[in-house]
Amino acid sequence: MSLVIDNLKKIKHIIKNDNVKIIAVSKSFKYEHIRPLVEYGHPHFGENKVQEAISKWSKIKEEKTGLKLHMIGRLQSNKAREAVNLFDYIHSVDSPKLASLLFKYENILNIKRKYFIQVNIGREKQKSGVQIELLDTFYNYCSRDLKLDIVGLMAIPPNDGNERLYFKKIFELNQTLGLKELSMGMSGNFKEALDCGTTCVRIGTGIFGNRD
Ligand SMILES: *Cc1c(COP(=O)(O)O)cnc(C)c1O
Repeated sequence: MSLVIDNLKKIKHIIKNDNVKIIAVSKSFKYEHIRPLVEYGHPHFGENKVQEAISKWSKIKEEKTGLKLHMIGRLQSNKAREAVNLFDYIHSVDSPKLASLLFKYENILNIKRKYFIQVNIGREKQKSGVQIELLDTFYNYCSRDLKLDIVGLMAIPPNDGNERLYFKKIFELNQTLGLKELSMGMSGNFKEALDCGTTCVRIGTGIFGNRD
């Protein structure tokens, strides 16, 4: 049995809920290291760089039609077209400019994708994400004006021991908007996120081990 499959099984055992999507975050790992999980049939994989994801996944995605790719990192405008082309889900929609480009490329490529709006839940300067005060307006712009399929909110809370409070806040914002999916929880805090109602956990080191 491969170690990465073993790690995934342990996490599934902790989660005990088949409705929670486990996004295996494979950024920085070579395909050889990821392959056992793909062959095992795991459906969800996350990357944070468009170029890396294209070279790693383009061919495999053609072969494995059930495989879903998630863009979880900051998305630059000049990569929006390639991102819409490759990723099934983009978790990092955080500006009107980016949203309008996603809309544009969905139309040009004749493709519909699923999106999360990233919220800067801890009001941290170095982190991306929409400010809470602007969330309503931004959601309406994406969903009503651009008809982007916004499925939920995404957040990376500060690593200050108060994750539960941030997760609860995000859950409430998500409910207020009537959204069904929620992207929160990583290797170090996915249990807290589960307690607070997450539907997508993004697990890197917990499955693939430490990144260099
Ligand atoms: C890298 C990354 C993860 C996974 O982090 P781990 O601590 O390795 O599980 C989750 N979310 C985002 C946005 C990331 O960039």
